[in-house]
Amino acid sequence: METIRTIAWMKEKARETRQEQRIIGFVPTMGALHAGHLALVERAKKDCSPVYASIFLNPKQFGPNEDLSRYPRPLEADIEKLTDAKVDALFLPEPTEVYPHGFSTYVHVEGLSERLEGKSRPGHFRGVATVVLKLFEIVQPHFAYFGRKDAQQVRIIQRMVHDLNLDVQIVVCPIVREADGLALSSRNAYLEGDERKAATVLYRALQAAAKELNTGVRDTMELQRAMLKVLENEPLARVDYAEIADAETFEPVVRVGRRSYALLAVYVGKTRLIDNMLIEPAGDELHIEL
Ligand code: AMP
Repeated sequence: METIRTIAWMKEKARETRQEQRIIGFVPTMGALHAGHLALVERAKKDCSPVYASIFLNPKQFGPNEDLSRYPRPLEADIEKLTDAKVDALFLPEPTEVYPHGFSTYVHVEGLSERLEGKSRPGHFRGVATVVLKLFEIVQPHFAYFGRKDAQQVRIIQRMVHDLNLDVQIVVCPIVREADGLALSSRNAYLEGDERKAATVLYRALQAAAKELNTGVRDTMELQRAMLKVLENEPLARVDYAEIADAETFEPVVRVGRRSYALLAVYVGKTRLIDNMLIEPAGDELHIEL
């Protein structure tokens, strides 16, 4: 696998690939790769050749009191995983390459960026949208792969792609979980001792909401209560939010009728974890995807 560190080189490579009429698949990541990331690569390999991945720990999407400085950076292991997964090239720029002195242009997806994750992490989605637009310009993908784990993020990227007429198809891939239901995340590495087991509380809370939905409950207050009951029973957990939101707008929902998400952000010890469940009306039934 080729490792590309400069924007000029990556752009040249993308230009050549497009001239050869080949289909570029792109998997952007922040590194500390796990099976969730590799599932995106696998999916990309099915649709595209070549597949390019990026590892860029984007400082612009971290708040001043967030975990940028302690975010895991196992670069050698990451390169090995991407090589084994037969990624064709890795774009691995330095922050100064992406944000040179004087950088002052940002993408702000209004509305969607202010709710839920955006409310808890001011400026986060501005950083995400900005870096993703830059990466799309540099890597020139036909298809870009994102995980439903970050449901609001992917919605914001879809909105940006639509609003700015970008020539890229966004592909959303399912959440990859551990055997006990915990969604894979680079941040799971922070969990210490009993916290790891306690972290399954997010999955258990979503399951509790799923159970209510399956018995016919549609009132979101009731669903929220079911999730909070599980979350509040876990002494190591502290809830940031537990909400049902419209899957398009991420506005609160009163009764589940349209495509929606149950969305959680929960601190387990000092580690902030997110998870979600997709609720999709299918005729008179609901299709629920954890
Ligand atoms: P990150 O490195 O956290 O920026 O994540 C890079 C991409 O991997 C994003 O599109 C995430 O949504 C996706 N991702 C992270 N964890 C998972 C998971 N457990 N299952 C599926 N996709 C994931």
